[in-house]
Amino acid sequence: MLKRFAARVLLLSLALALSSAAQQEEKIDYDMITKIRYEGFRNSKVMEIASGLMDGIGPRLTGSPNMKRANDWTREKLAEFGLANAHLEAWSPFGRGWSNEYVNVRMVTPDVAPLLVYAKAWTPGTNGAVRAEVMRVIVRTPQDIAKYQGKLAGKIVLVGDDAEVKPSVEPLSERYDDKSLAALGQYQVPAERNDPRFREFMQRFRLQRELNKFLEGEKVVASIDHSRGAIGGGTVFVQQGGSYKTGQTSTVPQLTMAVEHWDRIARLLAQKIPVELELNVKNNFYDDATTQYDTLAEIPGTDKKDELVMLGAHLDSWHAGTGATDNGAGTVVMMEAVRILKALGVQPRRTIRIGLWSGEEEGLLGSQWYVMHHFGERPESKDPERKGDPTLLRRENGPVTLKSEQKKVSVYFNVDNGTGKIRGIYLQENAAVQLIFESWMKPFADLGMNTLSMRNTGGTDHLSFDAVGIPGFQFIQDPVEYETRTHHSNMDVYDRLQPDDLKQMAVIVASFVYQAAMRDQMFPRKPIEKELPPAPPANDGGN
Ligand SMILES: [Zn+2]
Repeated sequence: MLKRFAARVLLLSLALALSSAAQQEEKIDYDMITKIRYEGFRNSKVMEIASGLMDGIGPRLTGSPNMKRANDWTREKLAEFGLANAHLEAWSPFGRGWSNEYVNVRMVTPDVAPLLVYAKAWTPGTNGAVRAEVMRVIVRTPQDIAKYQGKLAGKIVLVGDDAEVKPSVEPLSERYDDKSLAALGQYQVPAERNDPRFREFMQRFRLQRELNKFLEGEKVVASIDHSRGAIGGGTVFVQQGGSYKTGQTSTVPQLTMAVEHWDRIARLLAQKIPVELELNVKNNFYDDATTQYDTLAEIPGTDKKDELVMLGAHLDSWHAGTGATDNGAGTVVMMEAVRILKALGVQPRRTIRIGLWSGEEEGLLGSQWYVMHHFGERPESKDPERKGDPTLLRRENGPVTLKSEQKKVSVYFNVDNGTGKIRGIYLQENAAVQLIFESWMKPFADLGMNTLSMRNTGGTDHLSFDAVGIPGFQFIQDPVEYETRTHHSNMDVYDRLQPDDLKQMAVIVASFVYQAAMRDQMFPRKPIEKELPPAPPANDGGN
């Protein structure tokens, strides 16, 4: 056993040996970092790009005309920045396109009052103004549905559980402190399967689908649920009302209402006071939306030009806001990062390729199809409900078959966690990249980036790359108002973007991408996840 002092000397020399080995291996181009910082902080165009996308184009629901406009606009912008080969790549099948043109809902009995409400995506409108009585429907199990049989025709139904509005005691905006970053840095051993949570999710999904079918059969005028969360205050979280797939979209108009307004109606109904609403909703379906597009562009490489360093973000969004933090932020940060590199006239060794994906909100569709067309795929799903869906992220579909291009991609970087600045990076369980990122992030300690986490973070497009064995990474970002206010809400708009955070992100991404493009070796890889054997039969409990 070593004495304490001796142990300390040994540890210290080990640490020095490690860090000098890392420094030796990771050549940092500090001159270039100085230039990137200058261009990104003194000549930033990130808010100009943001206004073009969020104000000029607006929400970008996959399949909507705005989505295609955003694809064309980003392609033109990237070409204007001087990138080569700016183009759109098609993927299919998607489903139906949809947009909301008009929504006006007011109470007409027992009082006259305008109400804050949004149409749920992929639901129809009302064919002009309609007035009808409101009826509350509470369904928690499939058995609950039967008691409403034959009672709902011609009614507007108020669906969902009671909502309680509370003043927020926590700040709505949050930045990570040292304690929360240290916690993020701790690895959590994952379960092999997430069956209980997945089953719960599927049960809720099936119940919702059953209820929608029932309401269609009952010929209700419309259904109205309320926004999630207890904070309210004008923020309405709203997504889809059923499937986007052709032949499966809802035939009942569906709306999501601000929680305070929904609560007023619910209280009146509980007191047996009749409530009548007037609805006027105009939604458009587009049946030429089966083919969707990703936007791609490149900065060509030099001596290693056949090899790729990729960066990307999803360009699509939900429809009630303008998709500013989800994921306009990631989009404009990636665009600004390549703009900075072009403005500095870099001559990267590897080709740098940017990808702006569509269909992320519906299941990482655009990035999955891109990866399946270029890098590797899994066999078709045997599940009839998943016919036509990309198969890459479903390990139960079978093993991955690689394409030759897969070997040529060194690394993929993704940004999709809102407007908050970068505080670190998730290593995605790839221990071999730790020393690389440790040295790359050192020049950004003054900007708040200092955390590495081995965790396998999910929920966005780097997973599509990870699935075929391409090192794919997502940065750790400050939450700011992501969960409390902007994520999938009507308030996800330009004003909620934090300019200094976006500049910081673009500078760091530009630097990481540049270092990866100049590095002697490709990124170290981890093994591809194996096929998942079939799940043991589960007892759903009949609900
Ligand atoms: Zn999202």
